[in-house]
Amino acid sequence: EKQSWLRRLRSGLSKTSAGIAGIFVGVKVDEALFEDLEAALLMADAGMDATQYLIDALRDRVRYERLTDGAQVKAALRDLLVELLQPLERSLVLGRATPLVMMIAGVNGAGKTTSIGKLARHLQNYGQSVLLAAGDTFRAAAREQLAIWGERNSVTVVEQEGGDPAAVIFDAVNAARARKIDVMMADTAGRLPTQLHLMEELRKIKRVIAKADAAAPHEVLLVIDANNGQNALAQVKAFDDALGLTGLIVTKLDGSAKGGILAAIARQRPIPVYFIGVGEKVEDLQPFSALEFANALLG
Ligand code: GDP
Repeated sequence: EKQSWLRRLRSGLSKTSAGIAGIFVGVKVDEALFEDLEAALLMADAGMDATQYLIDALRDRVRYERLTDGAQVKAALRDLLVELLQPLERSLVLGRATPLVMMIAGVNGAGKTTSIGKLARHLQNYGQSVLLAAGDTFRAAAREQLAIWGERNSVTVVEQEGGDPAAVIFDAVNAARARKIDVMMADTAGRLPTQLHLMEELRKIKRVIAKADAAAPHEVLLVIDANNGQNALAQVKAFDDALGLTGLIVTKLDGSAKGGILAAIARQRPIPVYFIGVGEKVEDLQPFSALEFANALLG
């Protein structure tokens, strides 16, 4: 099973890895190599800053270690990438509080509802009881999707048609506490009907959660779609500025995502990546591993 999700990650990143791997085959280590690599990293969504950082660090290493063939340079790049991504590799710590309250944000379509469902199952597999709050009260479809999912998996979903999101989530925190639930996850809106401001709404939800439980939310997670490239980094910055993120879930790394965005995040907003999404099934939510990711990215 582990093999199959890794295969999906590798196949998702295969365009990037094919592009990068080709650069190192049977070449001299010269300026052209660095230029090709720079172009490939930019194409892979790594962005200017992370690309420049990796190229400069690689140049230093090549000079210092007197590397003379492509395979050695590629291995050095892999080491640098793992070092860069390592700080993002952190696991969600359970059992710190009962309930552990997690607020989940993300723009519509990022994979928020799917990830909440997968994460709930993942937690249940670890013996944790879960309660969900349907905080996206603006989108009937989101509420229904969560309710259907909850029913299918015997997870209580606190919801209220057209209700105030903060009030629904406030009730859910109290319900989770009364029932001694281990983890409570609050879905939130990814876009609002005009006039209202999403970040204002989310900040209000966070404040109201703290009224129900002063130490909560214990986690504020943002779900981003890896296919959004540099735009995903902009989302991370905006949501972090507004809410103070504690973790990320990066979805759709199985499709045709380029993957370099994680290097950009590591450089510019190093927020832990608790999980990656590599498909639509429950087992397709996996902890982030810097080494496995670097291997998949570089081929
Ligand atoms: P939301 O609007 O953020 O709640 O997004 P959804 O959870 O409804 O997901 C939007 C679409 O992306 C759905 O078709 C999901 O099945 C799909 N999706 C979510 N995560 C992944 C993933 O990791 N890989 C793939 N291939 N599809 C995903």
